[in-house]
Amino acid sequence: MADWYQKTGEEALRHFDVTTDGLSSEQAAERLKKDGENVLAEGKKKTVLQVFLGQFADLLVLILIAAAIVSMFSGNIESTIVIFAVIIMNAILGTAQHVKAEKSLDSLKSLSSPSAKVIRDGQKIEIDSKNVVAGDIIVLEAGDLVVADGRIIRNYSLQVNESSLTGESTNVDKNDETISGETPLADRANMVFSGSLVTYGRALVLVTETGMNTEIGHIASLMNAAKEKKTPLQQSLDKFSGRLAIIIMVICAVVFGLSLWQGKTIIDSLMFAVALAVAAIPEALSSIVTIVQAMGTQKMAKENAVIKDLKAVESLGCVSVICSDKTGTLTQNKMTVQRIYINGESIREEELDIRLESHRRLIYDMVLNNDSSIVDGKGIGDPTEYALIETSRSIGLDENIIRDTLGRVEEVPFDSDRKMMSSKYRLHGVPHILTKGALDSILDRCVSIATKDGVRPITDEDKKIILAQNNRYSEEGLRVLTFAYKESDEALSVETEYNYTFLGLVAMIDPPREESKAAVADAIRAGIKPIMITGDHKITASAIAKQIGIMRDGDMAVTGMELDAMNDEELDRVLEKISVYARVSPENKIRIVEAWQRKGNIVSMTGDGVNDAPALKKADIGVAMGITGTEVSKDAASMILQDDNFATIIKAVANGRNVYRNIRNSILFLLSGNMAAIITVLFTSIMALPVPFEPVHLLFINLLTDSLPALAIGMEKPEDGLLSQKPRDPNKGILTKDFTALMFGQGALIAVVVVVAFYLGLPYGASTAATMAFATLTLARLFHGFNCRSKRSIFSLGLLSNLYSVGAFVLGCLLLALVLFVPALHSLFCVEAMDGMMYAYIALLAFAPTVVIQIIKAISDKVNKTS
Ligand code: ATP
Repeated sequence: MADWYQKTGEEALRHFDVTTDGLSSEQAAERLKKDGENVLAEGKKKTVLQVFLGQFADLLVLILIAAAIVSMFSGNIESTIVIFAVIIMNAILGTAQHVKAEKSLDSLKSLSSPSAKVIRDGQKIEIDSKNVVAGDIIVLEAGDLVVADGRIIRNYSLQVNESSLTGESTNVDKNDETISGETPLADRANMVFSGSLVTYGRALVLVTETGMNTEIGHIASLMNAAKEKKTPLQQSLDKFSGRLAIIIMVICAVVFGLSLWQGKTIIDSLMFAVALAVAAIPEALSSIVTIVQAMGTQKMAKENAVIKDLKAVESLGCVSVICSDKTGTLTQNKMTVQRIYINGESIREEELDIRLESHRRLIYDMVLNNDSSIVDGKGIGDPTEYALIETSRSIGLDENIIRDTLGRVEEVPFDSDRKMMSSKYRLHGVPHILTKGALDSILDRCVSIATKDGVRPITDEDKKIILAQNNRYSEEGLRVLTFAYKESDEALSVETEYNYTFLGLVAMIDPPREESKAAVADAIRAGIKPIMITGDHKITASAIAKQIGIMRDGDMAVTGMELDAMNDEELDRVLEKISVYARVSPENKIRIVEAWQRKGNIVSMTGDGVNDAPALKKADIGVAMGITGTEVSKDAASMILQDDNFATIIKAVANGRNVYRNIRNSILFLLSGNMAAIITVLFTSIMALPVPFEPVHLLFINLLTDSLPALAIGMEKPEDGLLSQKPRDPNKGILTKDFTALMFGQGALIAVVVVVAFYLGLPYGASTAATMAFATLTLARLFHGFNCRSKRSIFSLGLLSNLYSVGAFVLGCLLLALVLFVPALHSLFCVEAMDGMMYAYIALLAFAPTVVIQIIKAISDKVNKTS
């Protein structure tokens, strides 16, 4: 039935056999079984077979196939078999790695999947959105993501943004009335649709459709297969291998021509070209990069930073500015009332006296104009609010008795733009509007003041005294709430929040998180500018910012209003100096992000509210709060902090840097090894010597023995120095000049010993020389795995500090020993038996480049330490 909007709410409820008390858990379980989970079937995923076949659609693989065919014509059938076996094995590995990476992304997705508040068995509970069934009653509040289509049963000023469905970006008012006649989707004001965002108000909604039956589900089923998104690093590597393939073909042609010119047979000349092609192609590279990236995101998830977008892992390493909320992220969000300013004096909470009229009114305002509660000693709702309830409890009042006898008539909820909330109650038969919020939002709305001697008009002098008191509290880092009221029966709305009587100030403490100070120091050391962005008062924010080290000598604090008064040039001039933005609106956040981005920075911005979503999207890394964040903010973010903690962002940045560094080192390892093989083949071809490697030798190294250290390098733990370096320049790719120089240098060093081994083997025949060259190259590259773990020498790193790399070395040596010492494998791998002396040469020669590289590293360690 698609015409729920034409039915009354009662009819719809009857149809689903449910009341506003919700389904029973048994009913819900039954329906879930019958209708299936509330999820959108993703665009058709590639089948495993398609992924497998896709592995062959690669220029580099095609070159290998050509090499296999050439080997066949040269009579080297074994090589052909091995090359094909290797190509198929590589495709299987690639497929397995693709499936694994997808699984790991799916598990990350489920960590960040939205939740929904439903009424089941008469109780409001929070469940995974995928378990919502048709007939469920869901509770929608500002900041929620609508997770299914539904008919609104009770409406409390609900406004939603349906742009994901209708493309219309303005918010739409909803109601619970019945609509007659055919109405287009966008005008069905009594319905909500999956994928919309609740921007204001509340509502009870009867779920009518879930999963693929929802309106967004119909659209999703029309969409084509979801395109795989590649990260910038993967894209640049793809580009690199494309260019590499072309260079390889050109050089192969040159080598082939050169060999022919030297008078070699066509087959021999072709074998040179084949060896070169196989040597140059880094077969395992892209698998290794993907695996290291996936392992990095898993590690971050364990440390409470859930990455929603793989791109974020790379950008994290470049973050140079972190804008963070104060409350709950830098502070503990554990509020305790410290002082109360009322009747012109600053008192402690136990001095509140319910017999005094102004005190009584303040307590009413604190307890009634408040949406939180404390159940079994646990605060539910906003910590600022349940601190107020704790205060009333501390003087022996039971807020539940007051709340049960006095029902709320109307309300204007808190929002971070107005920075206040109001509600209407009948107190002793008289309608009252109670309000609380930021002093700067409320003071100018007050026309009178409650004093010991009763209410009188407020004077400028009164305001000055109140402001001075507010400043005194704020300077101590206290968070101040202002309370006011009026006796009035007018309809409560944003327009009528005026003509109040000032009651008093309540100052509470929200201590910084213990780990904040160290995390801020780490950020500064890492060349990252930490910035506090808060809705709180400037002086309070500055006091806390000083305590945790964000605000240092010469730094500025700026309010949202002051920011609005600056034009872009003025802002750019002082931007670096501002470390605290107070009383900001969500729009201010976007401007701050843009200003830093204009100066070429990679900016991370935290947010929790529904209005924060645009700033989170604008930032390079939008960070949402896992505990206090709205679903809307989580939807917009690229990373979710499961513990809402600033220190977790810094950990994630360190991890991001480490993942990037490890990937870079793995790539250096693989490419410098390949370079050694290329130089050897080029050298022997120029010197008119026999071919130094059979294709099977190079494939054995590239795919088997080299993959092991490359993965071990990917597992390298973060180094201490990681956070003492400046952020990476996002415009610099991996293949920098330094990188290329290292790749050539280290490759050349290994090539020298391989060529020496080749010459040593030559007197015993070309085939023995090739075995010597192959064994030396394999072993030298296994040793080289230790060199590429870090810029530092192995002595300062410690050989055993990455056991994976030791394991990779041992396993690699075992594989090599298998090939060299098991005669049955000799013909398959084209190796000859050798004597003990030759093995000694191989071991010594293979070790030599590592000795040279480690000596250079040790010297540069020393130089770095002293400089
Ligand atoms: P953050 O640092 O995360 O931005 P914040 O709590 O300081 O958090 P907001 O929640 O936007 O920022 O609050 C801004 C101001 O609004 C507070 O300084 C306070 O004066 C007022 N305020 C906060 N919570 C409430 C509330 N529940 N009712 C009324 N006023 C509130």
